[in-house]
Amino acid sequence: MVNRVPLLAGNWKMNKGPLEAENFVKDLASTIHDNESLSKAVKARIVEIGVFPPFVSLERAKKGIFISGIPMSLGAQNMHWEDNGAFTGEVSGEMLKEVGCKYVILGHSERRHIFREKNEMIGKKMKKALSIGLKSILCVGETLEERDGGITESVVEEQLEEAFRGLTGPLNQEGNVIIAYEPVWAIGTGRKASDEDAQRMCLFIRKFIGDKFGFTAAQNVRILYGGSVKPDNTKGLMSQADVDGALIGGASLDVESFLGIVKNTIDVLL
Ligand code: PEP
Repeated sequence: MVNRVPLLAGNWKMNKGPLEAENFVKDLASTIHDNESLSKAVKARIVEIGVFPPFVSLERAKKGIFISGIPMSLGAQNMHWEDNGAFTGEVSGEMLKEVGCKYVILGHSERRHIFREKNEMIGKKMKKALSIGLKSILCVGETLEERDGGITESVVEEQLEEAFRGLTGPLNQEGNVIIAYEPVWAIGTGRKASDEDAQRMCLFIRKFIGDKFGFTAAQNVRILYGGSVKPDNTKGLMSQADVDGALIGGASLDVESFLGIVKNTIDVLL
């Protein structure tokens, strides 16, 4: 029996500077602390809460987590594939590790579409993250046009193929890769994919991992859904067999709504 602990990952995007990040983490933690059953579940690591602040806020967020004593994971929203060098404006994986990151989001649709990141670049980042022990959250997902064109699966398959090109394994020995299915049309639009669609695509991704890296990798890999997740749509989503958590944008910026998602996830699990 595989136990994939759901990850609820708050992607703050370009929100919350250092002070606000530290205060937010402390507020989140103290609200958890004050609720006995919630605090017990989070401390028992029934779910994993992750926060993904902007680069400049990572250190203060880490401090807030440390002071609070409530388990929370820290991650960054992007990285470069080289360790250092003439790459103005970029940050390396080693730097993220040094500041205390466990995770890095790679290939978010905003990186792909606004900053023109190509599958090939994302593949290089994946390899680097794996090689230095930084766990990646690889985002894949189709645009509305691609969905309407009936090519959702082939788009996602190509994104996966390119991200894993040249990697033969072992994969997911220590949860080193997480995949987030994020249909682009659902991000920040208030239009969440149906639970059935989210399940279908997460299963599709699991099968891809199984074909490429074998049964154990497929059983162990955590696959998240992302796109307009809110407290009131969490239960249906988290009841799906192949959905192992959520990547949350807007609703992770507010303590009440982020915790609403955490609580509703715990309700489904207990
Ligand atoms: C995201 O940024 O990955 C995301 C899913 O955003 P939102 O929850 O706001 O749709």
